[in-house]
Amino acid sequence: MTTARPSETSVCPKCGSEKVMKHLALTDTNADSPQIEVAGDPEAILFRDVVKRQLVADVCGKCGFCEIYVNEPEELYKKYETLRR
Ligand SMILES: [Zn+2]
Repeated sequence: MTTARPSETSVCPKCGSEKVMKHLALTDTNADSPQIEVAGDPEAILFRDVVKRQLVADVCGKCGFCEIYVNEPEELYKKYETLRR
């Protein structure tokens, strides 16, 4: 999994600090990482044809501002597009 992109620098949109931590993993108290899913067949019981991707966050190390992204969204979008046909 390619979550770290150290070559990218970014500036916090709230406070202008450059102390932004990129693509941190999200976790919750159940130790499962929150995910976004797109189901190719949402009505199906057994095979819903699901594509899942983890959420990652960019967090400002100065003010704490947090932006959440879906990691590698391209596959999700491909599945999403198939739903509209
Ligand atoms: Zn900030």
